[in-house]
Amino acid sequence: MTHLFPSLSGYIKSHGAMGKIHSNVSLAPYTSYKVGGKAQWYATPHNWQELQATFEWFSSKNLSLTLLGAGSNLLISDKGIEGLVLSTRNFRHYQFNEETGCVTVAAGRPIVSVAWQAAKKGWLGLEWAVGIPGTVGGAVVMNAGAHNKCIADLLVNVVVLSYDGKIKTLTPEDLNYNYRTSFLQNGKYLVLEATLQLQQGFTREEITKKTQENLQKRKSSQPYDKPSCGSVFRNPSSYSAGWLIEQLGLKGHRVGDAEISHCHANFILNCGHAKAEDIFYLIRYVQQKVQDHWSLLLEPEVKILGEFSTF
Ligand SMILES: Cc1cc2nc3c(=O)[nH]c(=O)nc-3n(C[C@H](O)[C@H](O)[C@H](O)COP(=O)(O)OP(=O)(O)OC[C@H]3O[C@@H](n4cnc5c(N)ncnc54)[C@H](O)[C@@H]3O)c2cc1C
Repeated sequence: MTHLFPSLSGYIKSHGAMGKIHSNVSLAPYTSYKVGGKAQWYATPHNWQELQATFEWFSSKNLSLTLLGAGSNLLISDKGIEGLVLSTRNFRHYQFNEETGCVTVAAGRPIVSVAWQAAKKGWLGLEWAVGIPGTVGGAVVMNAGAHNKCIADLLVNVVVLSYDGKIKTLTPEDLNYNYRTSFLQNGKYLVLEATLQLQQGFTREEITKKTQENLQKRKSSQPYDKPSCGSVFRNPSSYSAGWLIEQLGLKGHRVGDAEISHCHANFILNCGHAKAEDIFYLIRYVQQKVQDHWSLLLEPEVKILGEFSTF
């Protein structure tokens, strides 16, 4: 197997390279919601050496570790996060393999950019991913999907780093994939890179057209003009979460500057200066209303990190 990172086998070992680790870094700019407090420590390594050094440092300090991709499915507490927050957003390399039809992509590359690159090559498989503003690592962890397709349909394998420094290659069978869930959500592995199987034999025009159409569909049915995390709740098996919320007349309901979108009721928007606590309160409020009326507990798809008030 070819890897994008050198020496991806065995255990991680630093050779003295310095990873840059910053203290007291505001996380709001690193999330699509544009809310949240500070990370006690923050690192966003650019290469394997920096990651090795960061891991060595983190292990020696006995800190907790929180992983971030592009922060497009996160609600981070206004109180911030203790320990080290490590974002993989700067791992961006990729390689299309003309022989196998696979693309191997580092965790931090935006999935949208891979989708457009595949489209331009006339490779089928990622046309659904154009509206998803996260990284490939985040997509693998979340089993991101749209238009009835998801990452699990394409994944050949994923290379991960465990907190004890072990590198492993996992297959979809290991990941327990289901609707927007995976075994990787236990937070015990850092995704380094993923290999996806695409289909060759189409024209650039065919795939670009499909990709463009999907993007248009999404832009006409979802609010992209204000900060959000996309869908807040997983869809229950019966009805979509958006429909259940809309039936209760909750569109437009506000707490501070956090608002349930008029366009799509499963989106909560930051309409200006919302606090993470406002968004959290609205999430709990919607859960309560849906529970009271439909006897159904909506499960958040968004990952809620750090401390929040109880409701
Ligand atoms: C406008 C909008 C539209 C959206 N539409 C969709 C949609 O159609 N379908 C969909 O599925 N999602 C959608 N989302 C949600 C989000 O984009 C996806 O869940 C995305 O896959 C998250 O990727 P990320 O890199 O931002 O991950 P983050 O939000 O940073 O993290 C998500 C989870 O993955 C973990 N993680 C991230 N990177 C790594 C890594 N390298 N190793 C280990 N763990 C990691 C984090 O710890 C966290 O638990 C939307 C979001 C927005 C804002």
